[in-house]
Amino acid sequence: MPSPMTFDDLKAAVRDGQIDTVLVCFVDMQGRLMGKRFHAVNFVETSHRETHCCNYLLATDLEMATPEGYAASSWEKGYGDYVMRPDLGTIRPVPWLDGTAMVLCDILDHHTHEPIPHAPRQILKEQIARLKALGFDAMMATELEFFLFEGSLDHIRKSGFRDLTPISGYNEDYHIFQTTKEEGVMRPIRNHLFAAGLPVENTKGEAESGQEELNIRYAPALDCADHHSIAKHAIKEIAWQNGHAATFLPKWHADRVGSSSHVHQSLWTGETPAFYDPDQPYSMSKLMGHYMAGLIAYAPDYTYFLAPYVNSYKRFAKGTFAPTKTVWSVDNRTAGFRLCGDGTKGIRVECRIGGSDLNPYLAQAAMLAAGIKGIEGQMELAPPTKGDVYEDAKAGDIPRSLRDATETLRNSAFLRAAMGDAVIDHYTRADEWELEEFDRTVTDWEIARGFERA
Ligand code: ADP
Repeated sequence: MPSPMTFDDLKAAVRDGQIDTVLVCFVDMQGRLMGKRFHAVNFVETSHRETHCCNYLLATDLEMATPEGYAASSWEKGYGDYVMRPDLGTIRPVPWLDGTAMVLCDILDHHTHEPIPHAPRQILKEQIARLKALGFDAMMATELEFFLFEGSLDHIRKSGFRDLTPISGYNEDYHIFQTTKEEGVMRPIRNHLFAAGLPVENTKGEAESGQEELNIRYAPALDCADHHSIAKHAIKEIAWQNGHAATFLPKWHADRVGSSSHVHQSLWTGETPAFYDPDQPYSMSKLMGHYMAGLIAYAPDYTYFLAPYVNSYKRFAKGTFAPTKTVWSVDNRTAGFRLCGDGTKGIRVECRIGGSDLNPYLAQAAMLAAGIKGIEGQMELAPPTKGDVYEDAKAGDIPRSLRDATETLRNSAFLRAAMGDAVIDHYTRADEWELEEFDRTVTDWEIARGFERA
């Protein structure tokens, strides 16, 4: 589904007075939209060529801190500028905001205008180009799970995040009556995103009180990541406009199911599905076997890109549908990787490891890199696992904490070869910083446990 707005359409809409604001955005390390709100006249006259931002925006954390230890930007280097170059193919209306359009940017060096290697969109573009050199295009779909709460994010923050009441009073998995009650938020989410050019398939209730899922039709990998970032942003804004809070924190309560972001993947040569071979078991082509073998073998290396925070690892628990094992299975939701669509041209692999907090550009890039490694090495896929994978002692584990994932990332010769040392060092520093911040924190759990009894 192409964007419903070209640059010429935007110019006409600005002339007619329908659009007065253009959000000029890029995606940061955390997968958030960052940028500026331009007067639309300024954008169509000049700023569509480029604008600028401080380079700390790709070396910060969720709190906008300026940690030391990044080679690319620092106080010593004076935190200079990056160029934000609008990708005019991504212009789209923002129907949930009055008179507003949006464009996504690529991030370039201020002096050389070369792409910044650790910018998430660039990292994904690099892997897409590597795949293209092998003769394939990747089609991807990311599922977005999240929770809706009573009251706005501002109210919840002011209450110290203690007043957390999910929008529904019971598990609403596939529940039509409960989700009817939520249509005040969910219907505008579907319709506004569709009008913004995102091929929305559906929303549904998920398997916990207040938990929702949005599905967007699969698309070329870069479009899929763009869709994911825009949709996540829109969900928060539209929920806020309607007096509700949406969270993509994977685990907001120890006793509640967590939120994931499963990633569906298939490779194509033009219109031909390269994963499909009707003469092979499961109709899985040899190529798909190699791709999946790479995905599975290197899952520990790239788990950080699927689970980037301390909280992300709280989701990986037995008996919750959140996988902990690096095995594949046929239509079995307890494995890290699930074969979907076998016997059809829609055959694909679904990675179930990622949490709702993943950055889709980084997650997809890392998985493409692993798949490419599997193809290049003609890696052999082991037979599928059957039964309850949680109890399979022979199956490999993914890292069980951010600390473990930081070490597998730091020491990943495969990712260093695929993405470059500078990129891996940059993101390793992001994990280290997250752990340093966490280690400095005194948690509620420690106080409740030890205040009286220690
Ligand atoms: P599930 O039972 O996991 O919800 P769905 O049939 O709803 O499965 O599909 C899940 C996602 O997979 C959808 O977003 C869909 O667009 C995507 N999908 C379908 N075919 C492909 C494909 N060939 N490659 C990648 N993603 C695909």
